[in-house]
Amino acid sequence: MFALKSPCLFCLSADGPFTRDEHPIPESLGNDDTILPPGIVCDSCNQYFGSKLEQPVLNLAPFGVERVVQAIRNKKGKFPRVKSRDVELRSTGYWDRLALASNPPHRSLFQLPDGRTVLNPEWAHPNLLARFLLKMGLELFAMAESARPYESQFNAARECARFGTAADHWDFAIGLYPDRDDLLTAMRVDQYGPLETRQIYQYGLGVMASGDVLFSFVYATSVFAVNLSRPSALEYIMGFNDRNSFTLDSRWNAFPK
Ligand SMILES: [Zn+2]
Repeated sequence: MFALKSPCLFCLSADGPFTRDEHPIPESLGNDDTILPPGIVCDSCNQYFGSKLEQPVLNLAPFGVERVVQAIRNKKGKFPRVKSRDVELRSTGYWDRLALASNPPHRSLFQLPDGRTVLNPEWAHPNLLARFLLKMGLELFAMAESARPYESQFNAARECARFGTAADHWDFAIGLYPDRDDLLTAMRVDQYGPLETRQIYQYGLGVMASGDVLFSFVYATSVFAVNLSRPSALEYIMGFNDRNSFTLDSRWNAFPK
């Protein structure tokens, strides 16, 4: 962790002011204990990320949908809802019950050949997803013991996160977590029935064979990874897919242009 007097992690200005706590993982995703103290991210960057990056990302798929399904309350204590054009999906406060506010027919709802109706939620733009992952990754990296997030190898990532520089060239890995039982932390049965406690997110930071620093993030059923050292995620995706029973896709495959 850095002492006060470091420049801002993103804009590299020492002018400040630095008065705000910064949540690497947004509070709206359920994080209330991993916090960067004032002095690392300046107020201007903090405010920019909150309104211009996190808000648009968190209200659309995949994070918006996960938040609704998991009934994660937002900063104001309200249950989230996710809009997709003219359809709205709402939490009820119970993870097994959702409300769909709709007035069919809709473009967001479509019928499968077997007769089921499926909601096709609107996704956050992949450029914003890439920047959102870089922002979280750099901040969590800054919290790690002996990390050096001010090194020039991270300049491209900080400029992409903060200013959108080359965001349409920054790859990330994306996949679906196949076995949610891995995120189960406790289970018990009481007089009301079974009660499961699940970890809502997990993250990891690692150094790859090339020396690149990689940030991985699992949120409910969504898996992401982004390279903090350069735009390519290929080394990680190929290594991951060799070692695991499920595969991650490159952004370029998941969101064809
Ligand atoms: Zn700043």
